[in-house]
Amino acid sequence: YVRLEDHTRRKSLAVKSSNDVYFGDEHDNDGIATGIEGLIGDTPLIKLKSLSDATGCDILAKCEYLNGAGNSPKDRVALSMINHAEQEGLLVPDRGDTIYEGTVGSTGISLAAVCRARGYKAYICMPNDQASEKSDLLLKLGATAERVKPASIVDQGQFVNLARRRAQEHTDDPNKPGRGFFADQFENTANYIAHQQTTGPEIYEQTHGRLDAFVAGAGTGGTISGVALALKPLLPKLKVILADPQGSGLYNKIKYGVMFSSTEAEGTRRRHQVDSIVEGIGVNRLTRNFEAGIHLIDDAVKVSDERAMMMARWLVEKEGLFVGASSAVNCVAAATVARQFRSEGRAGARIVTVLCDSGNRHLSKFWKAAGDVGGAEEDLSLEDVLG
Ligand code: PMP
Repeated sequence: YVRLEDHTRRKSLAVKSSNDVYFGDEHDNDGIATGIEGLIGDTPLIKLKSLSDATGCDILAKCEYLNGAGNSPKDRVALSMINHAEQEGLLVPDRGDTIYEGTVGSTGISLAAVCRARGYKAYICMPNDQASEKSDLLLKLGATAERVKPASIVDQGQFVNLARRRAQEHTDDPNKPGRGFFADQFENTANYIAHQQTTGPEIYEQTHGRLDAFVAGAGTGGTISGVALALKPLLPKLKVILADPQGSGLYNKIKYGVMFSSTEAEGTRRRHQVDSIVEGIGVNRLTRNFEAGIHLIDDAVKVSDERAMMMARWLVEKEGLFVGASSAVNCVAAATVARQFRSEGRAGARIVTVLCDSGNRHLSKFWKAAGDVGGAEEDLSLEDVLG
């Protein structure tokens, strides 16, 4: 296991602690990053003063948007999946390999950046209803982006299934250089292991092990599972709480053990779609990365789009923090948990959550709906935000 008292060589220790390579130390002896990989991880923790004051608990946020390749927690996952695939011989530098992935955007952007640094090509399949900033960014990073109609996971044209097929077609085509590699962030366990080996230990060190709850949403589930697997053995009393957007089935799974009520299961709604403007979190199926830590998740909080937009405005108004939709969902859930703690006489409890990406990536969708923040005259109360 990672030696938590070591503050500077976390990643190289993580490598030594495992036979599998997910992370290396991407710095030279002077501590200078030897490539963009060295800008991944070791993100700061910020106290959200306004939310802490309003709730009576300490609410801290891990600034994952400050990862320096693709600017989200997916940087850790992209690097981990590529390192592991290289170790397994599935990806070979200079062979002309292409990495294929199905993603709503963040993982694609991180993969596109790390691929460029490592000499691979990236081919990203994504639904065409996501904010256009993300597909624009992919193109600027030199990736190929194939945008398809949103569809259920049982549909062959669905973006994840399409990426899997495109990778196979590449490998089977003698006219294409190298091989196609399907990264498969939903099922590839290098995803949660990245968070287990880096994000979780970082949070432990930054809080000196003093935390009462960890709150996060789940897209693939890699973050919540990996952090829970790292922290629960060290902190058995820690509460791990899922922040789930409207329309996602994970809340029901955690609360009641089933994803759908019988009427929903019988109904005609597209069961695999999440009906929310929040991108990146909320799903209606169980992935291997979510299942890896599901037994460690204690509770779930459901967050409506309306609450998420109010929280996003609050964070600008009170903190000058401009975050994306999933970060806002996380903060609503963290504040809800804080209020609960306080009502149980546990004021002063410490809650850690995640700021996943910047609002810059959500201008044309989430922030368009949330509107402009109205200067000095706007003064939201916690009741406005949480209801
Ligand atoms: N926030 C954003 C913006 C994301 O894109 C994702 C992942 N798709 C997440 C949060 C959730 O992370 P995870 O996949 O680790 O559950």
